[in-house]
Amino acid sequence: MHITLLGPPGSGKGMIADRLERAFHYTHISAGAMLREEVAKGTRLGKDIRKYLENGKLVPDELVTDMVKLEARGKKHFVLDGFPRSLGQAKAITDLHLNNVILLDIAEKAVIQRFSGRRVCSQAGHGYHLKFLPPRKAGRCDIDGSKLVRRKDDRPSVIRDRFRIYR
Ligand code: AMP
Repeated sequence: MHITLLGPPGSGKGMIADRLERAFHYTHISAGAMLREEVAKGTRLGKDIRKYLENGKLVPDELVTDMVKLEARGKKHFVLDGFPRSLGQAKAITDLHLNNVILLDIAEKAVIQRFSGRRVCSQAGHGYHLKFLPPRKAGRCDIDGSKLVRRKDDRPSVIRDRFRIYR
């Protein structure tokens, strides 16, 4: 199964991919998570990527495409989350042979509401929502126990920009 989940920021791509990973052991490949990891490592590349992420802008195609393809290569089952996000990226991955595309459609107003309560774990980015998907223990990840934090690009002005870029 080679799946990709498409949809605007906040549509639940990450959460659904997490569930597919837990239920069927599909490899969850999140372009955004890989980019955030590079930023956290503090590498030179990470410093360049940071500017795009914090402003909600798309990272250049070539860079993201290489990262995703490297991760997906040789995997029997995988679910892509947030990739492809441009025509260039879509054209560059014909060799990954996607056979399922799921579009999560959601209104901008609902996204803003969701983001205000969204939290992610500081260790691996597992997703929660204070109201709709709370962790068992307040402020801590159910899976690895790390602290739950708010993402920097979840500010309303950045969300609106990310939505515009998505459209
Ligand atoms: P996400 O975690 O999917 O919401 O992505 C967070 C941020 O990572 C986006 O706002 C972009 O800055 C960057 N990003 C994620 N996926 C891609 C992609 N496929 N192409 C370019 N930039 C991406």
